[in-house]
Amino acid sequence: MNILVTGGAGYIGSHTCVALLEAGHTVIVADNLCNSSAETLERVKQITGREITFYQIDVTDAAATNTIFANHSIDGVIHFAGLKAVGESVEKPLVYYYNNIVSTMVLAQACLKYGVPRFVFSSSATVYGENQVPFVEDMPLLPSTNPYGESKAMSERILTDIAKANPDWSVALLRYFNPVGAHESGLIGEAPAGIPNNLMPYITQVAKGKLDKLRVFGNDYPTVDGTGVRDYIHVLDLAEGHVTALAKLTAGVHIYNLGTGHGVSVLQLVQAFKEANGLDLPYEIAARRPGDIAECYADASKAERDWGWTAKRNLVAMCRDAWRFEKSVSRGRFL
Ligand code: NAD
Ligand code: UDP
Repeated sequence: MNILVTGGAGYIGSHTCVALLEAGHTVIVADNLCNSSAETLERVKQITGREITFYQIDVTDAAATNTIFANHSIDGVIHFAGLKAVGESVEKPLVYYYNNIVSTMVLAQACLKYGVPRFVFSSSATVYGENQVPFVEDMPLLPSTNPYGESKAMSERILTDIAKANPDWSVALLRYFNPVGAHESGLIGEAPAGIPNNLMPYITQVAKGKLDKLRVFGNDYPTVDGTGVRDYIHVLDLAEGHVTALAKLTAGVHIYNLGTGHGVSVLQLVQAFKEANGLDLPYEIAARRPGDIAECYADASKAERDWGWTAKRNLVAMCRDAWRFEKSVSRGRFL
């Protein structure tokens, strides 16, 4: 299939490009490079030995986006392009709502105009809010505490309504848990600009000596050891979930969790990282981070039942691959 991947130069998008190309699909990327670099796409080509057609455009720009649909016979869209920093979304709500929702509407409009039958959307476990874990796809969503989470819930709602009105259209709403790790080549991975917000890139930068120690946000949660529990999933497993979604998608709206189904605490992840890489990792206990929930992990059984998809790579692989990338990265802005 010819797949348009928006945000394809980003962290999850680039790994998904690898998985799509290795599965034999043709990939067209649309990315404005606001949080990534074109070098990443060169590395995807190096890994796969395949070509990618790249458009440096903003997908909120309807004219530029429609040009891609006019130029290519597209069979499906995977919409990764979005802003994702939760804290920044509280400070700049309009920027987040505009970017994340308008991009979804522009793409949906183009799909209907050009008769593109498949749409896969990057949603997030954050839409479950403080529901009881494990999170199941048919739970009622709870309001999020931040514009980022709301922009995902609203995009899901918009796509659901459009699909209801257009019964031939196929939409997958994929709710990601916590992607970590990198391609085993060490060529692509997560390279956030500035001080990382997320746990794994923070850990790898402490291990590298770039940051002096990890601050563990709270050890008084009602969890196994008091620290926050998340469902970490190897980014390549997540990437392969998209290839499966495209293959299995039927008409209508389909919601799937992409996680492992296992919760891991902050201290358990620190321990796993130390053991997997034979390193020490200094940390201290700090105050809870505002807005954090105690536990977030998936009921991952629906994707397995319907699609035969499960996450295959374990915590050791996640820690090793994340560290391999951090070691190899010559840090410019993104790589
Ligand atoms: P990322 O920032 O690495 O990738 C997003 C890409 O989209 C970047 O390359 C950026 O330049 C591009 N982009 C943003 N706005 C754009 C626009 N208007 N037009 C064109 N390109 C644009 O982020 P990621 O971690 O790869 O996340 C991909 C998607 O998955 C996002 O929608 C994110 O919200 C969602 N998601 C991520 C996580 C996570 O933990 N990483 C968890 C749940 C959901
Ligand atoms: N966390 C932490 N120190 C950090 C970053 C994160 O202790 O520097 C904790 C955070 O409180 C949460 C877990 O690690 O319990 C995962 O945080 P992340 O931001 O990676 O993911 P999210 O909270 O968005 O699921």
